[in-house]
Amino acid sequence: MRKLHHFHGGVHPPTNKTQSTQTPIAPAAMPQRLVIALHQHAGGNASRPAVQVGDHVLKGQIIGLPEGRFSSTVHASTSGTVTAIDRQPVLHPSGLPDLCVTIEPDGKDEWIERRGVDYREMHHTDLRQHLRMSGIVGLGGAVFPSDLKLYADKRKIKTLVLNGAECEPFITCDDMLMRERADQIVLGAEIMQALLYAEEVVIGIEDNKPEAIAAMQRAIIAGNYQNMEVVAVPTIYPGGGAKQLIRVLTGIEVPHGVRTTEMGAQCFNVGTAYSVYHAVTLGEPLVSRIVTVTGNVEHPQNFEALLGIPVTELVAQAGNKPDSNGYIMGGPMMGVAIPSAEAGISKATNCIIASSPALFPPAPPALPCIRCIRCAEVCPADLQPQELFWFTKAKELGKAQEYHLFDCIECGACSYVCPSHIPLVQYYRFAKSEIWAHEREKDAADIARERHEFRQERLERDKRERAEKLAQKERAAAAAKAAAAAKAAATPEPATTADPASAPAETAKAADPAQAMIQAAIERARAQAAKVKPKNIENLTPAQQAKIAEIEARRAKIREIARPDAGQDEEQ
Ligand code: SF4
Ligand code: SF4
Repeated sequence: MRKLHHFHGGVHPPTNKTQSTQTPIAPAAMPQRLVIALHQHAGGNASRPAVQVGDHVLKGQIIGLPEGRFSSTVHASTSGTVTAIDRQPVLHPSGLPDLCVTIEPDGKDEWIERRGVDYREMHHTDLRQHLRMSGIVGLGGAVFPSDLKLYADKRKIKTLVLNGAECEPFITCDDMLMRERADQIVLGAEIMQALLYAEEVVIGIEDNKPEAIAAMQRAIIAGNYQNMEVVAVPTIYPGGGAKQLIRVLTGIEVPHGVRTTEMGAQCFNVGTAYSVYHAVTLGEPLVSRIVTVTGNVEHPQNFEALLGIPVTELVAQAGNKPDSNGYIMGGPMMGVAIPSAEAGISKATNCIIASSPALFPPAPPALPCIRCIRCAEVCPADLQPQELFWFTKAKELGKAQEYHLFDCIECGACSYVCPSHIPLVQYYRFAKSEIWAHEREKDAADIARERHEFRQERLERDKRERAEKLAQKERAAAAAKAAAAAKAAATPEPATTADPASAPAETAKAADPAQAMIQAAIERARAQAAKVKPKNIENLTPAQQAKIAEIEARRAKIREIARPDAGQDEEQ
């Protein structure tokens, strides 16, 4: 028998749960159109559209891809035609429109090819990626991407806590899911336990849900799970807060500003475990969820509703009463007023309460704080709500942070007991949004500054590198010049052309002008002689013949002297 612990504070508002648990979960009728928001996860960016207007899509087909680490995937909830991708009202307290994909169903509800995987055969990184692409987020209302929460160092997480407490009044979707589909929740828990290397799985369910407790116990026994246990916890609001439930089940007190994982525990909603099983084992991405429709309706009940079905159409199926004057998403303690009933339900929509003046009479005007500290007595986070109120009212947001504003889970217990009817939670939400906006601005400025500094540094580095390269080039040129000079100094003086012994003969002759003139004269004489017809010397006198012989001898002598190789012969 597990020893249970207590958390500080808590209240006991009327539960109003019986009304919606009288009939089984019913499938919601197919609407005329589905308006599917592309931002259905906590934090991060909206998903990026992956379809175009006019595309025909199948059920389970990706229509929005994650944009960043904290983003998630969005799928078509049924088969049909994409008729619009534009900004439309969404289920967000800001009331601001956001990007949505509108699908006109073709009535076939035709799935993509669904391929389940065996988680035992899959690397954990791939398994987490599979969950990311299946659009699995926390279905307890926080809608934080589950793949990020399902990462843990080996042996760091001792206890996986499955949250089936469902402490908020009116909401019964988890209760009905556990009653009807306990086996699939347990199978999902098995996958999550493997991913976290958790030693044990503890399923906490408030003791006002005996059917759910029994169903979950049966599923555990049927599956023969040794390290999985169902624990009935006391019914007290907000016993379903993650830190509060971990405290009750394990005794772990999570200090301010510390994550539960650092203390060895991780917490998931039972609906998330169910969707993990469908994504992994059946290959079905998250395209629907269980939604409690209650309050001022004829037939309060739970529906399995396709994501994107407009609030008005879903409420109509439960028989909306004519005096309904608005809708609340979530419970009366933590829920938010729905700005437009034409918005499609999202992964965060666990409950829709049709309100009426009789059901929720207008709150009396707020009176001044009388410092009664009843708010502090019920605060489950052990805060000083009255101090937070004063600081936020005075816009001393730094002081509010010092008083652990961000540990406030916005449970509304303080407002619930406040005799002055001060809407305390609204002050805290406003303060948080102001701080986040300031942080975003600061982050944007920091990023811009870092980018500028990085650019300056890069320019400086490029400049330094260019100067270094130039210097290297100059050093190399100087070295080459010095080497050439040294080589020239070491080589013997080459012989000059004035040396007749080594100069080529033709060059020597061409270089002697006198010799060239003689050669030219000989050539002219030869040419002249060739022109003169030789005389018959036999008819001359002997004296004339002697004179001619003498001239011929002298010419021969001259030719001999002028012969081209005459000089060389002399040298040899
Ligand atoms: S319960 Fe209301 S009146 Fe009392 S201290 Fe808190 S804020 Fe002030
Ligand atoms: S809303 Fe915040 S301050 Fe008020 S009781 Fe809950 S946790 Fe405490």
